[in-house]
Amino acid sequence: MAYDWDRLSVPASLPWFEEKWARRSDPHCFSGVWRFHELLPFVPVADCVTIGEGQTLLQCSNGVAEYVGVSSGNLYLQYEGMNPSGSFKDNGMSAAFTHARFVGATRAACASTGNTSASLALYCCVTKLMRAVIFVGSGKIAYGKLSQALDYGALTVQIAGDFDDAMARVKEVSSKLGIYLVNSVNPFRLEGQKTIMLRVLEALRWEVPDWIVVPGGNLGNSSAFGKAFYELKELGLIDRVPRLAIINAAGANTLHRLVDEEGLVWNGGRPDARLIQKFYQTMDSEGRRASTIASAIEINRPVNLEKCLRALDVCDGVVREVTDQEMLDAKAQVGAGGLGCEPASAASVAGTKQLVQEGVIGRNERVVCILTGHQLKDPTATVAYHTTDQQLFNDVLGKRGVRRAAFANRAVVVPNDLDEIIKAIQLYS
Ligand SMILES: *Cc1c(COP(=O)(O)O)cnc(C)c1O
Repeated sequence: MAYDWDRLSVPASLPWFEEKWARRSDPHCFSGVWRFHELLPFVPVADCVTIGEGQTLLQCSNGVAEYVGVSSGNLYLQYEGMNPSGSFKDNGMSAAFTHARFVGATRAACASTGNTSASLALYCCVTKLMRAVIFVGSGKIAYGKLSQALDYGALTVQIAGDFDDAMARVKEVSSKLGIYLVNSVNPFRLEGQKTIMLRVLEALRWEVPDWIVVPGGNLGNSSAFGKAFYELKELGLIDRVPRLAIINAAGANTLHRLVDEEGLVWNGGRPDARLIQKFYQTMDSEGRRASTIASAIEINRPVNLEKCLRALDVCDGVVREVTDQEMLDAKAQVGAGGLGCEPASAASVAGTKQLVQEGVIGRNERVVCILTGHQLKDPTATVAYHTTDQQLFNDVLGKRGVRRAAFANRAVVVPNDLDEIIKAIQLYS
């Protein structure tokens, strides 16, 4: 999506947006998405739908800094779990939902690993503007997320298959029935997600950090971030662009393999389509399917692949993969620092650790890791990590190659006896 900026009124500097703080009683100034409306003006601001998304926090975490190996004061966590539905998806949903209403839709659909459906279901039930139809793969959705879709009253269709199967079906069904599709292919979602970067800059007093590190699933975030920085630079609102690191799960590493092994690049807008096609053909013929504890990024064919290549180009980006073990250890460190996140989010922290070890990220560089989803989205993974129950550990994590829980905070098991309880507390505290 490209704007004709010359015909729009764009602020002369980013601090101009601070003026909106004084007008927070206006929902469009309160929204962490729409208070930046001038940078995503695809419909008039009065028509923009908001449920209070984007009230997020950029936390400087010295615990996580130490864990990943950067100097104190240089590691920031952008906590998108604070959104109304508990993940960054609300940024994009407010924008896609706005467009859906603008074109007169009455039903909206998505295929989802969970958070998009939770978000869509929430926008539908809060605003009563549309009916939500949600496609999920069977057994592939964390309970925290499924419970949201059900509670919020969305029509939930469970397909016998994985995310990519659900995705293929929802496309067919939407075009047959004329239902508005809010999946990651929807370009308006990316417009909303650009504002995550604007809030990061805002929290850093409009100073551009050295690195943005983000988990890579369908690659909507990374594409949106690249677009945000490209536009800000074009508009003269920033003087340099940060570097971007996109982190795949090792069990869902399409981007990593295509970029780092096959040499796929943006190539001025002409990425090698045959290379991509061949990669997917081989994936299918070998029966390779994405498999990771980080269900939010358990994706074979990222729908925003090409846009993401552009973001890598714009931001001099790098791609890495991290194992489930690395993600869960990083997640425990994030939790110990006081925010907590779901497994996929911790890919950003695990990826940063790897890049610092490689010397790609310098110890004294300023790094922002995006925490994409709330800790309570996937309690199963968290409890299994900390558990003393070997069976539970094996069932949830062991089968995925996780061998140990280096930072487990194990519950202390005591008999129901006052003296024993007191003894245990004195022993352990
Ligand atoms: C959707 C999602 C992702 C993946 O983001 P993309 O934009 O699809 O790459 C990562 N983490 C969480 C928690 C998500 O919900």
